[in-house]
Amino acid sequence: MAENKHDAVPDYQLETLAVRAGTARSQFNEHSEAMYLTSSFVFDSAAQAAARFSGAEEGCVYSRFTNPTVNAFQERLAALEGAEAGVATASGMSAIMALIMAHLSAGDHIVASNSLFGATLQMFNNILSRFGIETTTVSQTDVGAWEAAIRPNTRLFFLETPSNPLTEIADIRALCEVAHARGILVAVDNCFCTPILQRPLDLGADLVVHSATKYLDGQGRVLGGAVVGPKKYIDPVFTFLRTAGPTLSAFNAWVLLKGIETLQIRMEAQSARALQLAQWLEAHPKVARVFYPGLPSHPQHALAMRQQQGGGAIVSFEVKGARAEAWRVVDSCRLLSITANLGDTKTTLTHPASTTHGRITPEARAAAGISEGLLRVAVGLEAVADLQADLDRGLSLI
Ligand SMILES: *Cc1c(COP(=O)(O)O)cnc(C)c1O
Repeated sequence: MAENKHDAVPDYQLETLAVRAGTARSQFNEHSEAMYLTSSFVFDSAAQAAARFSGAEEGCVYSRFTNPTVNAFQERLAALEGAEAGVATASGMSAIMALIMAHLSAGDHIVASNSLFGATLQMFNNILSRFGIETTTVSQTDVGAWEAAIRPNTRLFFLETPSNPLTEIADIRALCEVAHARGILVAVDNCFCTPILQRPLDLGADLVVHSATKYLDGQGRVLGGAVVGPKKYIDPVFTFLRTAGPTLSAFNAWVLLKGIETLQIRMEAQSARALQLAQWLEAHPKVARVFYPGLPSHPQHALAMRQQQGGGAIVSFEVKGARAEAWRVVDSCRLLSITANLGDTKTTLTHPASTTHGRITPEARAAAGISEGLLRVAVGLEAVADLQADLDRGLSLI
């Protein structure tokens, strides 16, 4: 797109990057980013077609691997994460798969947090294992356990912090020191914090993955994902995507690009509401325990406040009781949405033991700390008083 005018992106702050980075204008000089719904691009000549295919000339070829709207989303997210480069994918899971396919081979070994997103753990344990890639899972919070799990063929540390649903914090800087001393790559799933609240690359991580489906969209509309990092680590991911094809559609890229424009104000507002709700829950007589990194009672509060710009928008809590009591709270809600999604402006409520963590054995669930009385709230943008009243209706029945 040599003819396009790009808004220059010097050293702007995050909120400026969120609305300006990656903008490329066509000959019409549109102000809002255009959406390029086209599968392929036309060349001026046979020579240009050859040059575009070989990579000798920059420009779009085919939307499986080059689309201006997708490029704009990639550039904007990379700018926010302080990354040199980024590639977009069809979903968060395809971002994780592309990262693994690009950087690991049969015979390699991964050390991963045992509290990763469920589908990520299933991919590692049930799919990658069939292709000769083994995974050892360890506690997110125990740096020594990560070090002890390293084998001569360990190639990757994979973590997600804060964890879902118990909000355990991994010390990104400490884990990077352990990994880098052995030449191991560190990838962080930054879905829960987004670059507004946490920038893993600044803390030493090599690669960041996103489920853009969550806060980057922010309004529960589309699926998407991305991997960002230095160009030398992103180029192989791009090559895999170009060949294998789980790339982002231009439509979804456009929705995500506009979603990112409000990311900063949403994350700050949702995180502030989450803190208020967590404080209220902690003082509630029918609540046994609250898990929220922004509370001083969180076992890793100090680390979280060092590493993050806020507690995030996920609050989990245990009711006094078990499944029946937790379900009573869920079923008494009229405002909170009963759904497993998160990152939406609409607050969602989940009972992990019977939904997101329902397929693992009761023993594994107990070992992971997912009790029958546990509920997870992904706080949106409603008034905190309305959220409290909705939760209180069920809590008061316990
Ligand atoms: C949702 C989620 C994913 C998977 O993303 P999809 O877009 O649903 O494929 C990965 N990691 C975390 C932390 C998530 O919450």
